[in-house]
Amino acid sequence: MPIWNPELETMSRGDLEQLQLERLQAIVNRIWESVPWYRRRFEETGLIPEHVRSLDDLRLLPFTVKEDLRSGYPYDLFAVPLREVVRIHASSGTTGTPTVVGYTRNDLRHWRELVARVLSAGGMTKDDVIQISFSYGLLTDAFGLHQGAEEIGASVIPVSAGAPERQIAIMQDYRTTALVGTPSYALQIGEMLQELGVARSSLHLRWGVFGSEPWGEAVRERIESLLGISATDNYGISEVMGPGVSGECEGNKQGLHINEDHFLCEVVDPESGEVLPEGQAGELVITTLTKEALPIIRYRTGDLTSLSARPCACGRTLARMARVFSRTDDVLIVGGVKLVPAQVEEALLQVEGIEPHYLVVVDRKGGADTVEIQVEVPSALLTGDMRHLLRTQESLRQRLEGALGLAVEVKLVEQRTIARSQPRAQRMIDRRKREGSGSSGGESGPG
Ligand SMILES: [Zn+2]
Repeated sequence: MPIWNPELETMSRGDLEQLQLERLQAIVNRIWESVPWYRRRFEETGLIPEHVRSLDDLRLLPFTVKEDLRSGYPYDLFAVPLREVVRIHASSGTTGTPTVVGYTRNDLRHWRELVARVLSAGGMTKDDVIQISFSYGLLTDAFGLHQGAEEIGASVIPVSAGAPERQIAIMQDYRTTALVGTPSYALQIGEMLQELGVARSSLHLRWGVFGSEPWGEAVRERIESLLGISATDNYGISEVMGPGVSGECEGNKQGLHINEDHFLCEVVDPESGEVLPEGQAGELVITTLTKEALPIIRYRTGDLTSLSARPCACGRTLARMARVFSRTDDVLIVGGVKLVPAQVEEALLQVEGIEPHYLVVVDRKGGADTVEIQVEVPSALLTGDMRHLLRTQESLRQRLEGALGLAVEVKLVEQRTIARSQPRAQRMIDRRKREGSGSSGGESGPG
């Protein structure tokens, strides 16, 4: 697959680190001069920009957390006056005050370039017809991917989200070759294809680039077989830009190449904040190296991953991050055991005839944590032989208990009982909390 920007995506690690250091020093100087909030933070710890002499000195700098962006709502952390901002986006704000992000003309130019790299790595070229099934709005996904797709010269169809039937009709009529959206929505479209009896050969689809929520290898396989495509993962969060932070190369699918000339990534221990060595899993922390409107230092993403700078067969020298399977805030501790919703999904997909539509309900009864997993099954199973039904239920229970390492109850429910939320699927309800809600993916999930 062609590399969008060979000069930057295959540069030597030495040259890359030199570029990163120059950009880091420049951005630290800029926020010191232009963002009083950051200057106060630096002064509290006796830090001045001149203290940053090497990339290792990054760890002298304070973290930025989502709460900081919220407390500065909407524009306090901007480094330029609004007259220089040409675009404003925001996070969904479903779990509190939204975080607002701004872009200058240069920021938009970089954004287009970085998404173009990700889409090219995913297999797309100017000859593709790309259907964007993210909702167009304040969130960064749709617009970010849209502009990057235009940058590579593809024909872009801004369908937005909506009924899967409509996506399919447009795919057929417009001869779409590439689908961009969330993995759960891609699954819904794939299932609808089956339900409607649409032959895959009537479609022209070849590629899919998906993100915004955690998804595993079993989900990837299911999407690839339902839609007859090669599916790649990509990652981004609105606080640092949106989609375009990193993406898988289509030929290898062994981690997401990070656009390291624009983002300096670290992985830290989520508890202690200590920087972890390469290969060790922890929380991803991102420093923007080129953002003008909203430069961010050491942003705690809440996403769990690990880094690798090992060479990749595709020729890119950019380091890779492991696929984000969970976030620090969607790991529930149940009876002392960590429960990640994506693990449930992976286990279910290994059972023939079971679609990964499920809901995990965690509760506390008689002082003990309980886990009920509702799983959709075909109605024929529910109305058929009772013994067969019980056997299915029992085998699912055993499989899930084996995968999760804790006791669960399985409740089989009819198809379409569990709400299909968009753009991101809700997979978990924690009734132990007063507010009784939880989420998978979070509002800053992979872009
Ligand atoms: Zn690669």
